[in-house]
Amino acid sequence: STTVPQSPSNAAARSRLERPWQLLIGGRFVDAADGATLVSEDPATGAPLATVAAAGAADVDRAVSAARAAFEGAAWADLTPSARGQVVWRIGELIERHADELAELESLDNGKALPIARGIDVPLAADIFRYMAGWATKIEGSTIPLSGGGAQLHAYTVREPVGVVGAIVPWNFPLLMAAWKLAPALAAGCTVVLKPAEQTPLSALRLGELLAEAGVPDGVVNIVPGFGESAGAALTAHPGVDKVAFTGSTEVGRAILRSVEPSLKRVSLELGGKSPNVVFADANLEEAIPGAAIAIFGNSGQGCSAGSRLYIHRDVYDEVVSGVASFAASLRLGPGLGGETDLGPLVSRAQWERVNGYVEGARADGARIVTGGSAPGGSGHFYAPTVIADTTPQMAVVREEIFGPVVTAIPFSTEEELVTAANDTPYGLAAGIWTRDLSTAHRVARALRAGSVWINTYNHYDAALPFGGFKQSGWGREMGWEAIELYTELKTVVAKL
Ligand code: NAD
Repeated sequence: STTVPQSPSNAAARSRLERPWQLLIGGRFVDAADGATLVSEDPATGAPLATVAAAGAADVDRAVSAARAAFEGAAWADLTPSARGQVVWRIGELIERHADELAELESLDNGKALPIARGIDVPLAADIFRYMAGWATKIEGSTIPLSGGGAQLHAYTVREPVGVVGAIVPWNFPLLMAAWKLAPALAAGCTVVLKPAEQTPLSALRLGELLAEAGVPDGVVNIVPGFGESAGAALTAHPGVDKVAFTGSTEVGRAILRSVEPSLKRVSLELGGKSPNVVFADANLEEAIPGAAIAIFGNSGQGCSAGSRLYIHRDVYDEVVSGVASFAASLRLGPGLGGETDLGPLVSRAQWERVNGYVEGARADGARIVTGGSAPGGSGHFYAPTVIADTTPQMAVVREEIFGPVVTAIPFSTEEELVTAANDTPYGLAAGIWTRDLSTAHRVARALRAGSVWINTYNHYDAALPFGGFKQSGWGREMGWEAIELYTELKTVVAKL
């Protein structure tokens, strides 16, 4: 690796990198109490990119106190729903106004190709704030007729903010995952302590600088980058936190459940996946082949809903496998800001080792590497998009989440056999179906145990569409009205008249 990170072309991003990166607590940017820092690197070069204050338990405690005070204080609680909605809307506008800068910071910090950051991460982040802003004025209860008591009783429900939210997000879509949590939490009237991933803290901290301009009162959003075992664990265990909202690995999801057990905090979890993407014999292959390739190779496979198990009907198996393999081979790997880049590097050396370990394991087990399966050389954490065939259902590459640009191509003959194989996983996040037959599409959509099913498309996200997992892919749904439910408590009131 070289010692020089890429240099952003955006002047605002360049100058932002020259200023310090501190914790946001109670509306002020501060160092960690013990002065600890972490280094975020440029995954394309392995060079240090930024030194960032690293929160410890003492900082998390200060941040939770600030969030609690802000939750109880008048500046936030006394805003009308309309005024609160306008604050949330303005965050979306500010993200859009600073889109070029945020996209370059995101690309540099995570490694992803700039067009992905500029075309997906940043606009979807702006959009979830706009979408959730509208809900602020529509968080309604109901009046409930009772069977006993008749006109003597008046009963109704009210939805109240759940309180102080501890939000923990991963490194694959750093700004967007923060936005998925901040937007509904703020629309519902909560306050937040956000812990970005240690690999990618920059975009969330930059967003933190824009919040005051949007009208977010001090302490309503606090941002504490740091490591999972220290800052993350301190946040989930903190008695002052009412709800934990987490996106990341299933393993850490389980650890979080253990840590909230004594307090029985509310928890929502958006965890891993091993999502089946199914190509039927009658599919329009001109769309299904690139669709299946992008479903797994997009964002270098570092997406929880990546279509990592590609089930292909035997009649079209060879054609689809060779089509996806040539698509993979045509993708240009390069640095995120490189201009000609389709796929950036993986986020870290650790992630590279993990991905390569799965591919080498499959090779040793007798699977066939159709394309990819190696580092293309040079510095940075690049991994060639990889297609694996001749697997068995027991292989780790078929069963476990790899979180890299690696797809297993598996043939099937009957719909029944397909449904059984596709559902043979502890995960249930997403699934794809490619067919021209409406009945097949909807019948299989119903049979697949997954939180999102895409038909003749894949990874279609929208702020209005609830997203989350069946089985070990998680608890709860983000986006849509369902996200507001995650950040509210329902109170039932009964009055004797
Ligand atoms: P991770 O689950 O360890 O990290 C996600 C977040 O949780 C980070 O902010 C991290 O600091 C925090 N964290 C870690 N340990 C914690 C703890 N004990 N208490 C509280 N917070 C904690 O993910 P990772 O190690 O970066 O990646 C490992 C694997 O997880 C990946 O290879 C992939 O399979 C999966 N993953 C899934 C998603 C997803 O969106 N579903 C995202 C990232 C990673």
